[in-house]
Amino acid sequence: MECQECIFCGTESVSQSLIFHATAVSTCPLLEGNLSSMFILRKILKVPESTCVRFLKTYGNPDHWFSCCRNCSALVNKATAIFNEIVELKTRYSVIRENLRNKVRETTASHSSSEYEVLREVRSFITLPGLFRI
Ligand SMILES: [Zn+2]
Repeated sequence: MECQECIFCGTESVSQSLIFHATAVSTCPLLEGNLSSMFILRKILKVPESTCVRFLKTYGNPDHWFSCCRNCSALVNKATAIFNEIVELKTRYSVIRENLRNKVRETTASHSSSEYEVLREVRSFITLPGLFRI
């Protein structure tokens, strides 16, 4: 174990394994540590990918230069859990949205009178590629 400063608050802390909820996909501790470090750098601190690559090439394994104190780790865990929820909700939202949009694509308007013109326009708008993006 090395003594390092926490990347967030600067508190001197004993280097601990950076294993957070977001890394549960891996069973390799080294990979999990790197994934956690990359999650913090990329998703929380918004460090550009090219800079992260440079850090890895220059400084090697993040376990040697990257530390997080116990208090900040708790916040990172909360952020990670929320991030995972957002990803899950985005996926669920996309599925429902596509189901509804497909209903529009697969059906035709039954009314042709002018009072339904706006509905025909909305329906045609949805069928055009590249539009109606969120
Ligand atoms: Zn800290």
